[in-house]
Amino acid sequence: MTDAPEAGDSRTAELAGRLVVVRRRIEAAAAAAGREDRLPTLIVVTKFHPAADIRRLAALGVTDVGENRDQEAAAKAAELAECGLTWHFVGQLQTKKAKSVARYAAAVHSVDRPQLAEALAKAVSAARASTGRAPLDCFIQVSLEDDAGAHRGGAVPADVPRLAEQIAASDGLRLAGVMAVAPLGAGPEPAFEKLAGVSAQLVAEHPAATGISAGMSQDLEAAIKFGATHLRIGSDILGSRPAVG
Ligand SMILES: *Cc1c(COP(=O)(O)O)cnc(C)c1O
Repeated sequence: MTDAPEAGDSRTAELAGRLVVVRRRIEAAAAAAGREDRLPTLIVVTKFHPAADIRRLAALGVTDVGENRDQEAAAKAAELAECGLTWHFVGQLQTKKAKSVARYAAAVHSVDRPQLAEALAKAVSAARASTGRAPLDCFIQVSLEDDAGAHRGGAVPADVPRLAEQIAASDGLRLAGVMAVAPLGAGPEPAFEKLAGVSAQLVAEHPAATGISAGMSQDLEAAIKFGATHLRIGSDILGSRPAVG
């Protein structure tokens, strides 16, 4: 490894400081919601940042990382295999990438259509046969836009029950819960409240599917208030994303 960080380097110190601030925000929001005993899982979204930063984060105790592009995620997961990290795929996913994602991801947070669930099931079954991987946790991404035409990925709430049935019935897939990105423009609280309602309906049919993946740098407090179990935090830990090269 050419980019192993020095324990005392200044970037590690910067990341450590930002992590402390974010962890304090999470603890304060959880305490305000009366759930300090059930802190959400922190997924650090490392897209566009180098593998060396992920190595620093792992040394600082981060266990879960998120990526939104298969090519970048696959390369980082291969380079960092010995770090023992749990990889979450959080971006829009083309069906043809399912096979690659199934090689490194423990969870996909952006399952939003039957074709993708089918492709993931097939890919995971193949990977299970050859490498014995664990089942893939699938979060159904829900669109919270009022204007269906404007929506940027995600199943509309009415389509969630059918997709959930399909995932629950698929070998190799585990229905984990729901995921959403708060729409631009409106405040995050009404959006996350709506997501909590979609989650409650899902859990009524699928009692184990209690996951709620919600909350980014700007809105993690609102997400925790409405029951988020998984936070996806990028820029407040890593700083602004470098320009795409
Ligand atoms: C980039 C990204 C995040 C992290 O966003 P920040 O605002 O940088 O915290 C979370 N979720 C998804 C789906 C993302 O693409």
